[in-house]
Amino acid sequence: MSGSDHDHDHDHDHDHDHHHHHGHDHHHDHEHETAHAHAPPQPDDKIHSYYQILGIALKELLIEKGVVTADQVRQQIERRDSITPANGAKVVARAWMDPAYRERLLMDGNRAVAEFGFHMTTTKLVAVENTPQDHNVVVCTLCSCYPRDLLGLPPSWYKSRAYRARIVREPRLVLAEFGTQISDDVTLHVHDSTADIRFLVIPMRPKGTQGMSEEQLAALVTRDSMIGVSLPTL
Ligand code: FE
Repeated sequence: MSGSDHDHDHDHDHDHDHHHHHGHDHHHDHEHETAHAHAPPQPDDKIHSYYQILGIALKELLIEKGVVTADQVRQQIERRDSITPANGAKVVARAWMDPAYRERLLMDGNRAVAEFGFHMTTTKLVAVENTPQDHNVVVCTLCSCYPRDLLGLPPSWYKSRAYRARIVREPRLVLAEFGTQISDDVTLHVHDSTADIRFLVIPMRPKGTQGMSEEQLAALVTRDSMIGVSLPTL
């Protein structure tokens, strides 16, 4: 396992309200990091993990050294947070409408999503297609790798040990617990994401959607259907 993009997710919720008000006196001591330990926790206080504190300290040092600005950090968080499953839904709806696009998506996910202006940065996007014979479902057994560049942040259950372990061993049962019945004559494919490869499930287009516009179709495509734990419905 290597690769800088491997998102070891320590639940960075981007909301560690860590407002470190440097005055004009330039006291660059980092005593704020321990401040939480001395004050009784307030209801909306969050206890920071070791890695969160490390992350905050690194961010502040990069800002203090002038490597990045606080505004650049904020912009990146804003950009990240603006990525939602609606992006993936547009891609899937296009694949349903346009067979040539579907082929391009299956051949080269990165290129195909770039047609919408979505960029996978450092990871390879592999689109996998559900058919009447095959159903695909995505996991990261190791941690929480997910096509964040396309779909945004993963749901919390995706990161749970239970999902990561059980979807591999008993996928049909886990899908049933999500309310998704996959019949026994359909082959299940569980895709394990890595630092380098992320998967997008292209669900089957629901019946009765003839004549719907691409935009209307996109509204049917849910996050979970692109992970493969549910099926889009009309
Ligand atoms: Fe991972």
